[in-house]
Amino acid sequence: ATPVAIMVGTGKGAENGILIKSGEALETLASVDTVVMDKTGTITEGRPRITSVMPLGIPREELLAIAAGLEAGSEHPLAAAVLSVAAEEGVSSRAMTGFAAALGRGVEARADGHVYLAGNERLMAERGIGLAPVREKLDALAAAGATPLLFAADDRLIGLLGAADEPKATSREAIKRFHALGLSVVMLTGDNERTAEAMRARMGIERAIAGVLPEHKAAHVKELQAAGHRVAMIGDGINDAPALAQADVGIAIGAGTDIAIDSADAVLMKSDLLDAVNAVRLARAVLRNIK
Ligand code: ADP
Ligand code: MG
Repeated sequence: ATPVAIMVGTGKGAENGILIKSGEALETLASVDTVVMDKTGTITEGRPRITSVMPLGIPREELLAIAAGLEAGSEHPLAAAVLSVAAEEGVSSRAMTGFAAALGRGVEARADGHVYLAGNERLMAERGIGLAPVREKLDALAAAGATPLLFAADDRLIGLLGAADEPKATSREAIKRFHALGLSVVMLTGDNERTAEAMRARMGIERAIAGVLPEHKAAHVKELQAAGHRVAMIGDGINDAPALAQADVGIAIGAGTDIAIDSADAVLMKSDLLDAVNAVRLARAVLRNIK
């Protein structure tokens, strides 16, 4: 495309809340055949709510106090959901120290000589904590597309919370339109296999890659590229930044973190996946008309 056509194209994008940082990005976008999307905050609202509380051998209030104490030290959206439910139920969080994040797994902290854990199945498995008492509830939550949060005290399971994060109103339609444009869609998430599968099916996505540790997101994009695909990656989180940089075109959600926005080639100001579809259409139109 000519420089003028590209200027007109990027200008048109900007008018519609799609900031494309370079002419090269616009040109590359016209030829992508695969869209990789992060789940939390990209396909979903990224504002999970706690929908169930299941204490195990301790009172509900104590579970919530410990959960809130642990999550007070975390920046994760799931942490905000836990703090909200504790506040709603009038439970004050237990004061903790020695916070340590287990990246892509959960958090750990200490209080009164006890070690507390909050996280997913992977974290509990790593610490040798058996999940038999909550297995049925755990599976039911995941099958419904909710994220199970597990809590332990000194290697003893003390409860399970379920967090639901609803898809954005336009996500399903955007995925359908990507398909209509001939693109394939892959969902990438740190969430567990079954929760991811429920969301994949609900959104009509052909492939989901779950349980991806933050440091491995970019490797999955690289793998698709090595298989001959030209990849656009859409994400919002710090976790997504390396994958956004690795992709042929990185597209950040406008409401996402600064690091994601800095790593991307384009930004969706309205945080709406339909604008990612519009960006591909715009890129193709620019390339088609003025080559
Ligand atoms: P994603 O943003 O796709 O959920 P993350 O790598 O941030 O990916 O987290 C992966 C999983 O690790 C989460 O789905 C959750 O099960 C668990 N996890 C991460 N942080 C926390 C936390 N602060 N409390 C509880 N669980 C957590
Ligand atoms: Mg995200």
